[in-house]
Formats: sequence, structure tokens, C-alpha cells
Amino acid sequence: MEYRIAVIEGDGIGPEIVREARKVLLRIAALYGHHFEFRELLMGGSSIDRFGEPLTEETLEKCRASDAVLMGSIGGKVGVSPWYLLPPEKRPEAGLLKLRKGLGLFCNLRPAKLYPELRNACPLRESVIGDGFDLMMVRELTGGLYFGERSTVREGGELVARDELCYRESEIRRVARKAFSIAGGRRGRLCSVDKANVLDSSRLWRRIVEEEGKACPEVELSHALVDSTAMLLVRKPGSFDVILTENMFGDILSDEMAEIAGSLGMLPSASLREDRFGLYEPSGGSAPDIAGQNIANPLAAILSAAMLLRYSLELPKEAEDVETAVEKVLRDGCRTKDILEEKKGLKLLSTEEMGEEVAAKLRGPLR
Ligand code: NAD
Repeated sequence: MEYRIAVIEGDGIGPEIVREARKVLLRIAALYGHHFEFRELLMGGSSIDRFGEPLTEETLEKCRASDAVLMGSIGGKVGVSPWYLLPPEKRPEAGLLKLRKGLGLFCNLRPAKLYPELRNACPLRESVIGDGFDLMMVRELTGGLYFGERSTVREGGELVARDELCYRESEIRRVARKAFSIAGGRRGRLCSVDKANVLDSSRLWRRIVEEEGKACPEVELSHALVDSTAMLLVRKPGSFDVILTENMFGDILSDEMAEIAGSLGMLPSASLREDRFGLYEPSGGSAPDIAGQNIANPLAAILSAAMLLRYSLELPKEAEDVETAVEKVLRDGCRTKDILEEKKGLKLLSTEEMGEEVAAKLRGPLR
């Protein structure tokens, strides 16, 4: 099959890690007989340097005309890079917001998996970690408090600030459908997180999620409050499969999940639209402190490519092949600097070597 993949390498370590993800995709293409047409595009700092703006209309159009977008991270060292002398709407991060909005991406996926070999990177006690955890956050990305009306006015002799938290039924329904479908493809458990004991928007959230659940009886649905979920994530992370929540709760809980999962260099992410189209990028930033040194961990970018295979190209076997190859590489003791421990039998690899190891471990359809 032929697929068009827009590639935005980005800034800092972006080009280094995306190169390795591409290497892995090319190997998958060779093993499974697919054809991936990569279209190189600029966004963020590199686009400012070339076109004077972080995202051009042409780039946006080319992304829209692709099956998926694979991205590194964007941005420079805040306070050092000249990009941050520009007005906010001209800075690298403005390009990312415009891109997500322009592509209509409303559903953000952030998996947090603890690999047995990286248990020591998890800040939780052994007894809490238990058999480990493998969870997926599904976060609504374009509604709620971050997108409501806001104002700061003087009332009765003092300043009063207001932020509106609004959710429409249709916004909840479409992200809930995605979450049920994702849970159905995993261990079949979905926990919807809200604050329904206080907020009207959460009560509507719960009602619509319940309604959507009726169409998916194979998925076991539960509801939890955001405060108790924050506690349970650090007390019993293994009890979750898929967590569905609104924008702000998801923002906070997904950072908590990233922290318990260990290294930023291991965490992929995806942002999806109603159809199969999506944008795939590592959860971490452009790490300007280590850029250009060939020491960044490319596994988050490689695992983002695996998500691209699964969710946008609907190639679950190929996605699993990549994920299994990453597990094998870790089991063999291969480590980049960020996940290296003082332990016998571990091999320190460069960014490039890590990508090559993963590509070499892919088995293809004839396992
Ligand atoms: P960061 O995530 O880039 O780095 C935080 C720490 O994690 C650094 O020590 C870095 O070296 C390390 N790290 C991150 N990814 C790594 C990897 N793959 N391998 C090894 N180590 C890794 O966060 P920051 O320093 O706060 O931000 C740097 C820039 O990235 C800023 O301009 C910020 O705006 C931008 N940023 C971009 C995105 C994005 O593109 N989606 C997300 C977050 C931050």
C-alpha cells in the first residue's frame, strides 16, 4: 500500500530523533511491502528562519493532504534563542498551536508504559509498581477552560478574573467515541475522569460518555473524580487501562503519568481527528541542551511512528512489530544516555545506533 507521511523534523534534537523514526518506518515498508512517501516540511524555529513565520499556509495544506504527520519537537532555549524576541504569535510554539488547530486535532493520546528494564526510572516504590503499568490517556484537546471566554475587569474596587469552562455535547461525544474505540483495541477498560460532584460541564461529560458506552458494551466503563484519580495514579497505576478526560484535567494528569513512567525520551504521543488522520510526536520538547550531540533518545519518536502505523495507517501488526523491537532492544541492554544506569551488561548507544538497533530487530510478517 502507498501512504503519504508529512515529516516535520523541527528544532533541537527533532531532526536527530525523527531521522531514526524514519529509518524504522523505511524498514517496516521494506519488510511488509508498503510504500511510504515522506514529505519534508518546516515548522517552528526552522520555519521562522526560512520563511519568517512558524507555520506557513503551504505547510498546513501539505499536512492536510497527507495520511499523517510525523513530527520532532520544536522550539529553542527560551531567553537565549532569538526566536523568543519575536511577538508571541510569531514564536515557534505559535506554529504548533496553529498546526493542531488547522488540522482539527481534538483528541490527544499519551501512553505511559513502564518497561520492566526501566523500573528504576520510576519514582514510585517497588510495592506500588507491582507488575508495572501500561496506560493510555485520551485527552480532549480543543474545548474546555483553555478555549473559553476570559476577562479581567475591575468590579467593586478590585480586579476580578473570569475563565469560562464550556463543553458542547458534540465535543464530548466525538472524543468519547475515540476513547471507546481505543479501549476496545487494548484491554477493554475505560475510566472517564471528571469533577461531576461540582461542575455542570462534568455532569454533561458523564452523561454523554454513559450514552456512548451503551453502543460499546464490550468496553467496561467506569467514572472517577479527577482528585481521586490523581491519587490513584501514584498509589495503584496498574489499575488503569485507558483514561478519558477533558482538556485541563488531561493536561495535568498526563504530566503526572509522564513522571511516573520515567524518561521523557521514551514517551510518544498522538493527536487525532475524527477520521484516521493524526499528528505524531514525542511528548518531550526539543531538548536544546543536548541537540546536535547524537545522544538524544530516539525511542519516543520511534514509538510515535508505531502509533502512526496503528491509528492513521491502520497497520496494527506493523505497529506491534515496532513496539516489540523497542522492548527487545531494551532487554538486550541497549541504552541512550538518559536511560543508562550503573549496572552490568548495559551498552551506551548514540541516537543513531539506537535507531539502527531497533530497525535491525524488526521481524516483518514472517515471524
Ligand atoms: P525538554 O522536554 O526539551 O527537555 C527537558 C529535559 O529532558 C532536558 O534535560 C532534555 O535534555 C531531556 N530530554 C527531552 N527529550 C529527550 C530525549 N529524547 N532524549 C534525552 N533527553 C531528553 O523541555 P524544555 O527544556 O523545557 O524545553 C525545550 C524547548 O522545547 C522549549 O523551546 C519548549 O518550548 C519546547 N517544547 C516543545 C514541545 C513540542 O514541540 N511539542 C513540547 C515541550 C517543550
